[in-house]
Amino acid sequence: MQIKDVQDTIEEELISHDDLEEKIVQMAHRASEDYKGKNPLLVAVLKGAANVMTTFSQAMTIPVEIDYMSLSSYGSGTQSTGKVLVRHDLSTDIAGRHVLIVEDIIDSGFTLDWLVKEFKRRGAASVEIFAMLEKPARLKFPVDVKYKGFQIPDKFVVGYGLDYDEKYRNLDSIAVLKPAVYKGEYA
Ligand code: 5GP
Ligand code: MG
Ligand code: MG
Repeated sequence: MQIKDVQDTIEEELISHDDLEEKIVQMAHRASEDYKGKNPLLVAVLKGAANVMTTFSQAMTIPVEIDYMSLSSYGSGTQSTGKVLVRHDLSTDIAGRHVLIVEDIIDSGFTLDWLVKEFKRRGAASVEIFAMLEKPARLKFPVDVKYKGFQIPDKFVVGYGLDYDEKYRNLDSIAVLKPAVYKGEYA
């Protein structure tokens, strides 16, 4: 079966493009007030958070610096013995910096829990989080999220940077795909 259009693959749209961006902009405005005079560094973990970083940073009304990291998580989120490997590190020395992590989705919280501790170890003056999506039912490593986007049910979602098999990151809303996609029936 050939995909004509990415919209044809959607089973259910959970959050529309407009609702998503309205919330991201609202949180960016709030952060702009909070970080006035603090020269914040926005950090996103690639690849999923790249889209939300773009929208969030463009909506901020104060000058900010932006940096990216690439991580690989090993071990399940239920195991505190799981390891995180840094594939691509920041190019910024964060000692003494006010760091705001811009995240796509918090599932178990394992990755973020590790990242917050790592940034504190590196001497950040403060570490806060904006999360576009959270799955409260799945949270195992409680992380303190200062700027909240949407809470979603325990469903696998794609879009706005989030992938299934590296695809669907370009979808402009948050959606659940048709079962046929996961069964590999679309080429
Ligand atoms: P955590 O460390 O919180 O368990 O996992 C966070 C990462 O798992 C996210 O950054 C994302 O890459 C992936 N992830 C978790 N839930 C979903 C989901 O529903 N859809 C997609 N595409 N990725 C997810
Ligand atoms: Mg992420
Ligand atoms: Mg992924």
